[in-house]
Amino acid sequence: MIIQLQQGIPADIKENILQEVKNVGFKANEVQTQEGSYIVGIGKKDFDIRTLGQLPGVADIHRVSDEYKLISRKWKVNPTRIDLGDGVLIGEGSFSIMAGPCSIENEQQIELVVQHLKENNVSIMRGGVFKPRSSPYAFRGLGLDGLRMFHRICRENGIKIITEVMQVSQIEEMADYVDVFQVGARNSQNFNLLDALGEAQKPVLLKRGISGTIEELLQAAEYIFSNGNEKIMLCERGIRSYETAYRNVLDLNAVPVLKAKTHLPVIVDPSHGIGLRDFVEQMSLAAVMAGADGVIYETHQKPEEAFSDGQQTVNFKESERLIKRMRQAYELRESF
Ligand code: PEP
Ligand code: MN
Repeated sequence: MIIQLQQGIPADIKENILQEVKNVGFKANEVQTQEGSYIVGIGKKDFDIRTLGQLPGVADIHRVSDEYKLISRKWKVNPTRIDLGDGVLIGEGSFSIMAGPCSIENEQQIELVVQHLKENNVSIMRGGVFKPRSSPYAFRGLGLDGLRMFHRICRENGIKIITEVMQVSQIEEMADYVDVFQVGARNSQNFNLLDALGEAQKPVLLKRGISGTIEELLQAAEYIFSNGNEKIMLCERGIRSYETAYRNVLDLNAVPVLKAKTHLPVIVDPSHGIGLRDFVEQMSLAAVMAGADGVIYETHQKPEEAFSDGQQTVNFKESERLIKRMRQAYELRESF
């Protein structure tokens, strides 16, 4: 059950609602976000919710039986749109393209990618500075110095930044330099990190875990929301299976299913999803048709020389074609 409270509700009125929720045998959880105040009631008892709905201070009340609540479409039917400022919006009504290298490598690389994005009217650049790598001997990113350089060049060019945060202690030091925090697949259920991002002011792109279910992804998003941050987008990036012909199985079933279950934007990462650069375009176009709100993919001036994930990274020529085709596909989808 979700009770949306009226703006600026006095403490005693709120206390009364909390007490009434307990009286009907529910556990009451208070949630305060940048957008609103809520009480999430957890319990199984059947009762007439109108008794609570009539209480002073209650703006709206909904019964939501799913484990996740505040991110559910059963409660909020209107899709969430995330505003990154300067007219950059993510969510229904537009198709977002986020592109860039797997890892930020040096100044020249950032400048080349930024130039490529500007030429193609793409306003969000991806690039990791803290890299989760399977081998401790692999390139693990340029860290905070790299992020500052990334930020300076992007700001000079009007480009927004999405980059991965790997642990709680990095949030504060990174916050001034990012527009969207990415939670990687390996951290998808790092609940301490999710809690802390709930308190952050910046939007979060939450990736599905390597073997994560849809339900787990949704509950992970609920952690962020219930800790105060409503600016969340979900990312399908492929799940692990027995198949070895490609890196992961990009689960495009997840796109319409997630869109039906939640009001949050759904983004697809075809690069990690298939892991083979020759097929990134096909899977991106399929993602558009499946109803994704955006795509995030890896591009680099010389993919064969990339410090990480070169095998799944497209060059600028391929990237340009991909951008054009995704936009055409999106227009077609919207015309249906
Ligand atoms: C990445 O975006 O480069 C990355 C490491 O992604 P994932 O967490 O999906 O593996
Ligand atoms: Mn990568």
